[in-house]
Amino acid sequence: MVDLRAQYARMKEEIDGAIMQCIESAQFINGPEVAGFQKNLEIYLGCKNVIPCANGTDALQIAMMALGLTRGDEVIVPSFTYVATAEVIALLGLKPVLVDVDPDTFNITAELIEKAITSKSKAIVPVHLFGQCADMKPIIDLASKHNLFIIEDCAQAIGAAYTFSPGVVKKSGTMGTVGCTSFFPSKNLGCFGDGGALYTDDFALAERCRMVANHGQSRKYYHDIIGVNSRLDTIQAAILNVKLKYLDRYCESRIHAAELYDKAFAGNDFIKVPKRSTKSTHVFHQYTVQIPANYRDELKDYLAENGIPSMVYYPVPLYKQKAFASPENDAKQFPVTERLCDTVLSLPMHTEMTEEESLFISGHVLSFLSKKTQYA
Ligand SMILES: *Cc1c(COP(=O)(O)O)cnc(C)c1O
Repeated sequence: MVDLRAQYARMKEEIDGAIMQCIESAQFINGPEVAGFQKNLEIYLGCKNVIPCANGTDALQIAMMALGLTRGDEVIVPSFTYVATAEVIALLGLKPVLVDVDPDTFNITAELIEKAITSKSKAIVPVHLFGQCADMKPIIDLASKHNLFIIEDCAQAIGAAYTFSPGVVKKSGTMGTVGCTSFFPSKNLGCFGDGGALYTDDFALAERCRMVANHGQSRKYYHDIIGVNSRLDTIQAAILNVKLKYLDRYCESRIHAAELYDKAFAGNDFIKVPKRSTKSTHVFHQYTVQIPANYRDELKDYLAENGIPSMVYYPVPLYKQKAFASPENDAKQFPVTERLCDTVLSLPMHTEMTEEESLFISGHVLSFLSKKTQYA
């Protein structure tokens, strides 16, 4: 699905040098590379505060703790997302309120969110799924009307940008109250282990996030609130500092790979390519197509037989997971998510994809579909 080894080979010297420097300085925790990366990411994003932490799931949890969300508060999340988003909500004793998504962009919309708002709603978590921002302008308007926080889950969309109006463009994660991202190795900006960060323009909130991430400590050995221990390792920060310079290039490579797939699949009625929003760029964390449900799993097997990996993100929606099953969450409320779980298929997508690889993959997808559908 990804080729991290080839990506590393291209910048081996630079990365190895950065890692060696950390080892020699032996400042493994909160070394200067962490502050350096924080600063560089703030500049890249055009955001006033970046708070590094241990992983993307922690970033979401720290955001909710720092915002002072308390037991019983309702937090609106998409039903079609990775489990981390809802998990931390439940873990903090908050109530995840699931909403269905748009069938073309896979993201939540203001219209769907509005129906789920109650007097207990405190926050919305838009997930910019697969690398494309949710339509944020109407979501921001809705949130301000109802006095709700927006916690953007931009773990899959670092580098994506949303246009509010001509000339007013913001990067994913910098539009809401706070943004949460992940540097898991396969994410668009990945380190060599776990890593994450929060972004916010609100200095007081940034201070609270830093405090929560550091044992609720205001100064050494003085703990004002209950916190967690969540840090970005110095070595990971050093690696990210090197890779951040190439992030825009990575985005371009992914967009190019997506265009090659698009071209190959154009005009085929049995494969629906990912729709591009008119407001957001798409940085293709995943290239996810929709295939008729009766062929999807067979196509996946056929690709595997031919040495081509593919993945179903996500096969089981949140409301059907044992951990989140509740009588309130009836599958009938989520017709789009129901269908997507049976029809989506993500194809290999990474920064090192060649035209030859792309044609090999799309050729097999097309030959399978033409065999299957010749009498359809
Ligand atoms: C990867 C991911 C996370 C969690 O990130 P980790 O660093 O693995 O904890 C959260 N939300 C989404 C949408 C993700 O894709």
